Amino acid sequence: MERKKRNDRILAGGLLALAAVFLAGARLARRDAGRIAQVDIDGQTVWELPLSRDTELLLENKNGGVNRLVIRDKKASVTEASCPDQICVRQGGAGDSGQTIVCLPNRIVITIR
Ligand SMILES: [Zn+2]
Repeated sequence: MERKKRNDRILAGGLLALAAVFLAGARLARRDAGRIAQVDIDGQTVWELPLSRDTELLLENKNGGVNRLVIRDKKASVTEASCPDQICVRQGGAGDSGQTIVCLPNRIVITIR
């Protein structure tokens, strides 16, 4: 009887350790998948889009400047823009934390975080 109780305790301890490992793993995975593209237009944050979800969006500033933001394969990119320099379009995809896509003429900033 006494011995059985001890075994139960060991089993419970093992399960707890297993659960801790599992939780840590789940948290790590979530952090990796949890990047978002923060979109600032005219100095104001207007969108916070998860990179894990493919989407397409027209961003318009108050002067009528337009950028097409596409999120695909966990990367954000500007595929079309009304700006004269097209630097934001040529910049390509951004998917790493801290990367930015900037369209100075349209005052649109996309920050990955
Ligand atoms: Zn641009």
